[in-house]
Amino acid sequence: MNTTSSSASETETDYLRSKHHEFLAASDKALRTPSLQIILGQLGDTLGERNRQAWRMLPNSDLVRQRARQIKDETLANLHEHLATLEKSIEARGGQVHWADDGDAACKIVIDLIRQRGATRVVKSKSMTTEEIHLNPALETAGIETVETDLGEYIIQLAGHRPSHIVGPALHLSAKEVAEILSVPAGRQLPVERETLAGFARTELRQKFAAAEVGISGANFAVAETGTIVLVSNEGNARLTTALPKMHIAIMGMEKVIPRFADLPYFLKVLARAATGQKLSCYTSFITGARREGETDGPEEFHLVVLDNGRSRILGSPLRESLFCIRCGACLNACPIYRSVGGHAYGGTYSGPIGAVLTPLYDGLVANQHLPHASSLCGACQAACPVKIQIPEMLVQLREQLHHEPALKSRWENFAYGMWAKTLKKPWLYRLSTWLATRTIGRWYRKNPWLKKLPGKLHGWTQKRDFPAPAPQRFRDWWDKEGRHES
Ligand code: SF4
Repeated sequence: MNTTSSSASETETDYLRSKHHEFLAASDKALRTPSLQIILGQLGDTLGERNRQAWRMLPNSDLVRQRARQIKDETLANLHEHLATLEKSIEARGGQVHWADDGDAACKIVIDLIRQRGATRVVKSKSMTTEEIHLNPALETAGIETVETDLGEYIIQLAGHRPSHIVGPALHLSAKEVAEILSVPAGRQLPVERETLAGFARTELRQKFAAAEVGISGANFAVAETGTIVLVSNEGNARLTTALPKMHIAIMGMEKVIPRFADLPYFLKVLARAATGQKLSCYTSFITGARREGETDGPEEFHLVVLDNGRSRILGSPLRESLFCIRCGACLNACPIYRSVGGHAYGGTYSGPIGAVLTPLYDGLVANQHLPHASSLCGACQAACPVKIQIPEMLVQLREQLHHEPALKSRWENFAYGMWAKTLKKPWLYRLSTWLATRTIGRWYRKNPWLKKLPGKLHGWTQKRDFPAPAPQRFRDWWDKEGRHES
């Protein structure tokens, strides 16, 4: 069973399914989808409120977050050393490490490993890194049956959708829509009852677990000194994925390594709180190599695929801090833009404020030119982030880079900004312009000081918002007449 790519090819223009860069069109569509707006409207009161409560209950939460951030910073400063230690530790325990420069290379490594094993059936636990490299369509093209086993991922795989949230991939779907989707493989109409729907998925997935020859997972963290892969989940599917099949392949971005086991508690404390408002997730799995002699379960083979896919480039750039991200999704829940348009509008694998940084970095700035502007720069994302990533600052840096992109230079915009610069440099010209503006537009709009429609090329400003009209009186005139005496 794998419906992902057949659905995608049939619905190339459907923003729920296909990769695109149409942020403006997709966000417009999202704003006009009432069912999505109801779900997004509840996000701040559900996940957002749980995040806030969880922080309140952690003594010294600020210090814990600061330490987690510091560990990330120090690890990235010597990333290649820690990755080399990780490789040695994994090999010492009988595992193998594979290095992938990009998504295609990673998919090829995974497919080759599965073929060498003579396998055709794979179960997967939730992994944003495998979404990033489009592993499912690659496996399907290679004739390998792939089943997502996280409930949300299973639902969207059946629907042929992309994840709309880092933590809750099916967040955009109502219970009624989920019942419709699951009724197709059930061959009967399932009721809109959460227990029944989850029970159906559980029964289906148990059979898939039992039949699978390979289990594929991501990795929340990889501890260099012990070669331990750490998986954090709430459903237990990650344990079955990594323990039942004969081969386990884990895929992770190279920034997921942490040096020591003693570093782990800082991240475990902040990840669950930021992601779901829990003190600790229901399952935290530590996987150190394949099954050893005398052990009764676990895979016979363990492989770790370490993905670069642009991360080395980002590491040496001013935006290296984006590699601190532990994929908790808290910045999405806090962001007024995400809470208005949802995850699919962002077009890439990662959505919300961190997606607005990562997607241009991984997928090209010009192709994703609207994303750095998909933010009010209110700072809610940074406040919510468990490792205090300065997302607004990075968005501003990307906006600045856009300004210097030759492909996006507009003659008209250059002319307008050139005139503005000239006006600001010449006090007499500035005074004349403001005098004219207040005597004309400012006075016409005295009663309703908002311009609803700007003319010509400026009309974009007023497509979705009003523009303040100049005041009927300049500040300097008011100051000369009244302000001076008042003070
Ligand atoms: S940027 Fe911070 S808040 Fe957003 S997903 Fe990453 S770690 Fe979580």
